[in-house]
Amino acid sequence: MRRALAEADLAARAGDVPVGAVVLGPDGALLATGHNEREATGDPTAHAEVLAVRRAAAALGRWRLTGCTLVVTLEPCTMCAGALVQSRVDRVVYGARDEKAGAAGSLWDLVRDRRLNHRPEVIHGVLEQECASLLTSFFRTPFRTS
Ligand SMILES: [Zn+2]
Repeated sequence: MRRALAEADLAARAGDVPVGAVVLGPDGALLATGHNEREATGDPTAHAEVLAVRRAAAALGRWRLTGCTLVVTLEPCTMCAGALVQSRVDRVVYGARDEKAGAAGSLWDLVRDRRLNHRPEVIHGVLEQECASLLTSFFRTPFRTS
């Protein structure tokens, strides 16, 4: 989660909402990183989780991320939750809850929907305060670039 927080910080520096993610391989080694790049790239799908999952798949040379763990500072949205189900990650770990748009336990629980054929394990609340305060301070800064 510390590495994901560092990624979130990179997003904030570029004027993007500070969300960072990492993918750990089956052996626990760092496979890929990602941070929110919507403002930087103008791509509405450039969320930290999507970018990290794409890079992890490229690193492994396969789309199935079986055995992998995605760690993200903020609860995934519906798009990212969908991407995580599609990627077949074994585990999703997140820091702060997103009561307004979260799709891993808050507003929806897409990743653990019993109607889907793949349901990763979800662990939340890891370094929750740090993950949340990064977002709070970002939105409190009046003259950010975005
Ligand atoms: Zn998302």
